[in-house]
Amino acid sequence: MILARPRTARSLRPSELLIPTPAGLWCPPADIYIDPVRPVDRALITHGHSDHARAGHGAVLATRETLAIMALRYGEGFTGERQEAVIGETVRIGAVDFTFVPAGHVLGSAQIVVESGGLRIVVSGDYKRERDPTCAGFEPVRCDIFITEATFGLPVFRHPPAHGEVAKLLESVRVFPERTHIVGAYSLGKAQRVMALIREAGYERPIHVHGAMEKLTDFYLSEGAVLGEIRKVVAAERKSLGGEIVICPPSAIQDLWARKFPDPVTSFASGWMRIRARARQKGVELPLIVSDHADWDDLQATIRETQAREIWVTHGEAEALVHWCGTVGLKAKPLHLVGYGDEGETESSGADASLEAADATAV
Ligand SMILES: [Zn+2]
Ligand SMILES: [Zn+2]
Repeated sequence: MILARPRTARSLRPSELLIPTPAGLWCPPADIYIDPVRPVDRALITHGHSDHARAGHGAVLATRETLAIMALRYGEGFTGERQEAVIGETVRIGAVDFTFVPAGHVLGSAQIVVESGGLRIVVSGDYKRERDPTCAGFEPVRCDIFITEATFGLPVFRHPPAHGEVAKLLESVRVFPERTHIVGAYSLGKAQRVMALIREAGYERPIHVHGAMEKLTDFYLSEGAVLGEIRKVVAAERKSLGGEIVICPPSAIQDLWARKFPDPVTSFASGWMRIRARARQKGVELPLIVSDHADWDDLQATIRETQAREIWVTHGEAEALVHWCGTVGLKAKPLHLVGYGDEGETESSGADASLEAADATAV
């Protein structure tokens, strides 16, 4: 480790505490990176999505759930060393204090509060403000600098309440009792949130899941998520699943795999479904606007709640959000961090491939 000179004698400038680099956000006085996109010696990870949590670091500090999710996705050897970050407890590295605070994004997701020499920067990671029965809710933290994503940082993105979207799904199931409803949802977080919302709406039949999301769903169940009876889809039995709900990775809704169900209704749960053209392009018959990211209004509300004097925007619609900050008198800048984005778009579908291979031989 690179030993830093003690810097507590004077206040740090923000640009001394966190620096955007090609590997990710670097904190020189602690010599750690937050959500690095390249292998580094020491990483602090906000949550388990594949664009933030990558394998191959020397050491990882993250919440217990995020560490478990990384182990499930990459295997136990995903990092050299691991250290558990307890929500609300401060860890000192060098002259810097780090505290993990719930981000409301997926199970185990956290903002990371970075504090040194009287300066406090909050790295929010991905976050949302809408209630999610499967993870702890976002907690705003007062800070000097708030670092935010802007995935849905345009006025067109105003997410309707998720339970209303799930009600549309259940209404369609009622109207088309012979058809299988196939819902594309990201394997980590979105899928389990949709299942939990389906249960909250009173639906009691088993929910069927694609093999690619079985491990993560089992993990959510073991962590106490109320998902009811979950059954893994057996390829040979797809024909018998008329009238049932099947949840699968977004990449699977257009696969041959999906076409073996009786007269399937194709659905997709995503904030992107707000854009009709995007739904049409993906062949989605029943778009459900369910997002695990803050919408335009919630980005603004969150920025105001933090009372930060300066906003840094990591990824997404950075220019639009930076512009809005200017209109309300806040200093703001885009960080142009590369490597982050919609994890679902790039999600590895290795499990899909093996399932398809099984299909091909099973006839
Ligand atoms: Zn994420
Ligand atoms: Zn992300």
